[in-house]
Amino acid sequence: MDTDSFESAVKLLANAKHICVSTGAGMSAESGVPTFRDKDGHWSKFNPAELASPLAFARNPQKVWAWYRERRSQLATVKPHSGHRVLADWERRVPQFTLVTQNVDGLHRRAGSQNVLELHGRLELTTCSGCTFSRVDLDDLGPEPRCEQCAARLRPGVVWFGEELPHAALSSAFAAAEACDVFVLIGTSGVVYPAAGVAEAALAAGVPLIEINPEQTPFSSHAAIYFAGSSAVVLVGIEERWKARTP
Ligand code: NAD
Ligand code: ZN
Repeated sequence: MDTDSFESAVKLLANAKHICVSTGAGMSAESGVPTFRDKDGHWSKFNPAELASPLAFARNPQKVWAWYRERRSQLATVKPHSGHRVLADWERRVPQFTLVTQNVDGLHRRAGSQNVLELHGRLELTTCSGCTFSRVDLDDLGPEPRCEQCAARLRPGVVWFGEELPHAALSSAFAAAEACDVFVLIGTSGVVYPAAGVAEAALAAGVPLIEINPEQTPFSSHAAIYFAGSSAVVLVGIEERWKARTP
């Protein structure tokens, strides 16, 4: 992470009319939300196939709900960090700005980002597996809640393994990736599809990629600029130089 990288990044960003940013679990790590694939991530303690899938829910809804209840209650103890706020500022500064996230924690909204494409849903959302009922709340719904309208099982409003992503959000994400002037990829291992396909679409369209991740990913060698650092530190570093720039 040298000064040149920061200068080049600011140049790309400041000249862009449309910036597209895509974030993964690493974006929230410095807020204290664990990632899934890192050493101390959820996956080391839980088997995702036993929890984050429709089959798991059908077999053992109480166990799945218990895990989600724990993750929901964690949301009350975390808050957005300075990197989240930098991205909210960019949205206000740049003519067109698209924020795509795989995160379900809602931290981008809480930091002030308005236009967020949440590809994997939201932890705060409860939906019905039988009808269109959905609501945002973090109240304790009991160990195995049922829908008031159709009596089917209520479930967390997130996308599970094997399920389709929300079509509108996904197609907006692909459109933005292909049309933007610079694509910023932050804190994602780049192995969860179709979300990872969004960054691939940007590369295929010849859009320069800026990547921020302490660990290399399949995208790092294709990035125009790769920052081997954490999201808060690097975003604040870019922002300081961008603001100090004389127009
Ligand atoms: P991942 O767990 O597969 O990968 C996390 C990535 O973040 C890794 O590449 C890691 O090197 C990087 N990272 C760790 N600390 C970082 C930091 N401080 N700054 C920048 N990068 C950092 O995450 P993923 O690719 O997003 O895929 C996991 C899936 O699980 C997602 O689809 C998401 O829906 C879900 N998930 C969501 C949350 C959340 O909402 N906060 C947390 C965990 C998992
Ligand atoms: Zn229902």
